[in-house]
Amino acid sequence: MKINRIITNIYDSNTFVIEKDDEVLIVDAGAELEKVKSFTLNKKVVGILLTHGHYDHSAYCNEYAEEFSCPIFAHEKASDTMKNKNAFYGDNGQKMEDFSRFQFTQQDCFLQIGGFNVQCITAEGHSPCCVCYKIDNILFAGDVLFENGIGRTDLVGSNKKSMLSTLIKLDAINFDIVYSGHGEQSTFLPQKKNIAIFKRFLAR
Ligand SMILES: [Zn+2]
Repeated sequence: MKINRIITNIYDSNTFVIEKDDEVLIVDAGAELEKVKSFTLNKKVVGILLTHGHYDHSAYCNEYAEEFSCPIFAHEKASDTMKNKNAFYGDNGQKMEDFSRFQFTQQDCFLQIGGFNVQCITAEGHSPCCVCYKIDNILFAGDVLFENGIGRTDLVGSNKKSMLSTLIKLDAINFDIVYSGHGEQSTFLPQKKNIAIFKRFLAR
């Protein structure tokens, strides 16, 4: 499995293009389609995973889905976030209207998307529609876990209590590497320390 990271022009969010054999899975959709296409040449794009519905992570998802004729997977609450311009945080106050290519996931579940086995871990707190995706032993954490920090809990739809529950849940999960929605990747032990710090902070 090869993971390509694209740093986008929307708040420097990360879009990941994951290659495995001749298939590709995309995590988040903040990068322009042309940038993504430079990594998908001659490969079949089997799906798009959204870590949550904020604009910087989902802006181009419908463009990708149309270009690659593949579904978009997102938390069942993502449409509520994306239909609400105050919760979507679009750069021009826009909102998302078209969910025809979405396949909504419910609580923690497993998805088989082409040759990719994906564990979906619902992770409410930063937003009600956050999902972390575990593929092999790699965790795509969106805006839940950063290299040194966690996602903001002061936004529309954020909830500190839920974030604490999410951190407790993620603390019990095994992984080798975390790829975050912004910034650099992190490894298991430093990330465990990071989680511990913010569990204490949120429990105050
Ligand atoms: Zn976000």
